[in-house]
Amino acid sequence: MVEPRRIVIVGAGLAGATAAGALRDKGYSGQLVVLGQEEHRPYELPALSKGLLLGETEEPAWVHDEATYAERDIELRLSTVVEGVRLDTHEVVTADGTELPFDRLLLATGSQPRRPVMTGVHLPGLHLLRTLDDSRALRAELVEGRRVVIVGAGWIGCEVAAAARRRGCEVIVVEPNPLPLHRLLGDTMAEVFRDLHAAEGVHWGLGYGVFGFTGEEQGRVTGVMLDDGSELPADVVVVAVGAAPRVELAHAAGLDLASATSTGGVEVDACLRTSAADVFAVGDIASQLHPRYGRRVRVEHWANAKHQGAHVAGGMLGDEAPYTASPYFFSDQYDLSLEFRGVADPLVDELVVRGDLAAREFVAFWVRGDEVRAAMNVNMWDDVDALAALVAGDVRVDRAKLVDGDLASLLG
Ligand SMILES: Cc1cc2nc3c(=O)[nH]c(=O)nc-3n(C[C@H](O)[C@H](O)[C@H](O)COP(=O)(O)OP(=O)(O)OC[C@H]3O[C@@H](n4cnc5c(N)ncnc54)[C@H](O)[C@@H]3O)c2cc1C
Repeated sequence: MVEPRRIVIVGAGLAGATAAGALRDKGYSGQLVVLGQEEHRPYELPALSKGLLLGETEEPAWVHDEATYAERDIELRLSTVVEGVRLDTHEVVTADGTELPFDRLLLATGSQPRRPVMTGVHLPGLHLLRTLDDSRALRAELVEGRRVVIVGAGWIGCEVAAAARRRGCEVIVVEPNPLPLHRLLGDTMAEVFRDLHAAEGVHWGLGYGVFGFTGEEQGRVTGVMLDDGSELPADVVVVAVGAAPRVELAHAAGLDLASATSTGGVEVDACLRTSAADVFAVGDIASQLHPRYGRRVRVEHWANAKHQGAHVAGGMLGDEAPYTASPYFFSDQYDLSLEFRGVADPLVDELVVRGDLAAREFVAFWVRGDEVRAAMNVNMWDDVDALAALVAGDVRVDRAKLVDGDLASLLG
């Protein structure tokens, strides 16, 4: 394949910046431009709801050192919003009207947190969490003794609850489901997280919906209105009700999108190419036809952004190898650290537990038929290579061995 003269990457986050580095690693010598709307150079998000909120660190993990961009001839244009992609003329258009031609384009625009349409949702003191600036603004408000109401008990809601408790705040988490992380983990595992947070002093408002926020006139948020007519007083509110993939550019350009009722996001093939031959998509926005699962998978996790970013560099330079990595996720809450590998459906898959649930040292397996679909190790790190191999497929499981046998021996 003739080397593309100019590659443009839209989205200066983990996936986009990793792809830029990987293109240079693979010997790409043409022009390479990365466009990002934030003023910060590309950084990783996980610390934003953990170490940064806790005050353990001032800086996120940067994807590359500042000097790397110049050294590797990666033109990083920050504070630059891309407003359009013209597939016919192979150009992107930025908010200031600049038209930038490309031979290959990578879309890595990530997600944005959902802001429900409700009374008071724009009041000062109500926070969403996605960017470094969001995290710093929230941290400044997590002051000892303050009443913090968190709306949503997904991963980010739970991590913020843990950080807020560690900072001495009074914390209530409101969630319409009967348990935190319920849809993702099912009853038994969700109970582990309910009990963990309760033991750390979090109050649960499980089974309650929120329908708005009250505030002082022209001032800060003061409360959260619940669907039973009651109101929770609040000094700080964090709305953590999920994120939506940023597909506006792809949609306007006419690229194929996955329906919101399936995975949402931009459809890509096994090699991460969109419906336009010269345009690729990675990270949170990519809905990939995944060879392991035989269906579309879209993953809003750190490892996916990093590994797809590295993989797509090959695809943009003509390599047809499919992306096959299983989804991987990690979380830290108080003294609990976990890794989750694979794709589970807790309503369908059978839960098998190895280790000690009460001590929060265990591995949970989600098993379908005779294969492990997903595994979550909690405060246990001995068997991570075996867990990765088990969820990668082609291994027949013996449930008794999952519970207390030698996992490596299952791999044959
Ligand atoms: C608070 C928080 C904590 C997390 N913790 C974990 C964790 O513990 N473990 C884990 O596995 N995952 C975690 N994640 C998820 C993980 O970080 C994301 O899945 C990953 O960062 C996605 O990378 P990305 O490059 O696709 O998107 P992003 O990192 O969101 O980068 C996309 C970038 O594109 C820019 N952009 C978008 N549109 C445009 C445009 N039109 N013009 C210019 N620029 C644009 C955005 O401003 C953004 O900077 C966390 C996420 C958050 C928000």
